[in-house]
Amino acid sequence: MNHLNPKHDHFFGYRGGFFALDPETGDEYEPDLPTRREVCPRCHGEGVHDHPAFNGFTGEEMREMGDDFRENYISGVYDVTCTECSGRNVVNVTNLDALSPSDLAILDECARERNRDAAIERAERLAGC
Ligand SMILES: [Zn+2]
Repeated sequence: MNHLNPKHDHFFGYRGGFFALDPETGDEYEPDLPTRREVCPRCHGEGVHDHPAFNGFTGEEMREMGDDFRENYISGVYDVTCTECSGRNVVNVTNLDALSPSDLAILDECARERNRDAAIERAERLAGC
C-alpha cells in the first residue's frame, strides 16, 4: 500500500498540483502519487495522430485539396507524434486504487479546497472584482 504521507504531520495542499510541506524544514515537495499506465486517450495507443492543423477539416475541404493530398493523408504522411504520450502509446495516470483510505481522504479534501477556490474566484469575477 502506497502512502502519500508517511509522516502524518505533513500538510498537503493543492495549487495547480498536489504539494506537501515538510514540517521540519518547511520545504514544499511534490508527494509521489502512485501511477499506472493507461492507453493514451489522444492517439488511442497509436503513438501518432493527425496533424492538429487538419482538425475540423470537412469532407468538402478535403476534396478541394485534391487526390494526392487525400491519399497522403490517409496513408499517414501528415501524422505527427502524439502530443499527449510523445509516441509512447501510454500515459501515466494517478492510480487511486493504490492509495490508502487516509491518503484518499487527503486528496479528496484537496480537491474540495480547489473547487471551493474556483467557485470563489468565479463569484468574484461575476461581481466584477
Ligand atoms: Zn498518444
